Amino acid sequence: MLNKNSVKSKKQSFSCEEAITMKQSTKDKDMPVHTITPLLLSKLPSEKGPMTYLVYHGQPVVRPYVFWHIRAGDANVLVDTAIEAADYKNYHPGFQRFPFEAVQTFEEALAQVGCAPDAIDIIIQTHLHMDHIYNTLKCRNAKVYVQQEELKFALDPHPIFEILYPRNIIEKIDFSPLWGDATILPGIDVFLAPGHTPGCQAVAVDTRRGKAVITGCCTTMDNFDPPEDIKTKISPFATYPVIAPGIHTDLFQAYDSALRIKRMADIIIPMHDPEAALKKRIP
Ligand SMILES: [Zn+2]
Repeated sequence: MLNKNSVKSKKQSFSCEEAITMKQSTKDKDMPVHTITPLLLSKLPSEKGPMTYLVYHGQPVVRPYVFWHIRAGDANVLVDTAIEAADYKNYHPGFQRFPFEAVQTFEEALAQVGCAPDAIDIIIQTHLHMDHIYNTLKCRNAKVYVQQEELKFALDPHPIFEILYPRNIIEKIDFSPLWGDATILPGIDVFLAPGHTPGCQAVAVDTRRGKAVITGCCTTMDNFDPPEDIKTKISPFATYPVIAPGIHTDLFQAYDSALRIKRMADIIIPMHDPEAALKKRIP
């Protein structure tokens, strides 16, 4: 069922509008376009630093924990499964004092798109941090895709990142591993975007407004849209045209992956962006 077609970045030097026109003229008429529904489970009043390397530290932000639903023909596809506020608090005693805010349960979120957990056919795991995988086991009929490189690291993580990988959940999931870029369904592709984690993958979704990319790496729009004069205005350590994710296993890869995403995407959907998480539908 799985085709391992490479995802090629075709539109790097085109403007958004040119890219859409090109897509429409070159696109196979039968190729489907999709709509993405963000589903928000919980929020944490926090600060920007963990998302943006060496910049914006101490600035307040409310971090959303969100996953995404795509109905592709008959198939219900999820990108990640997020984490509920209560589960995050109970994950480790150290999180008890964090002011997580509950928005809804996983089941309530799926009900918004007319689904129960058993109706989910495919889950694409961008990576295996606990805030992206906590509800995956509830979807008993789902085929769960992850990059082999990510799975390998998750089962034997460096001590610095051990806390982020919920071994009791990861060991129980029957993963379908991927080795690099792949087409999951027509109009839904994954591509390697390492650096935030060793086997992080982004998800590219064809929409009527062009290619939407769910970034995989934990970021906000601050990472993808820094002001051109950020070095003089905000910090000489900041970078342009992207800022690397603050949490990373390889800083250079993390920067390069963010840059690749920015260049190929018509619509960027960062994993923890407060505005993107509240959208009803994308596009
Ligand atoms: Zn995350």
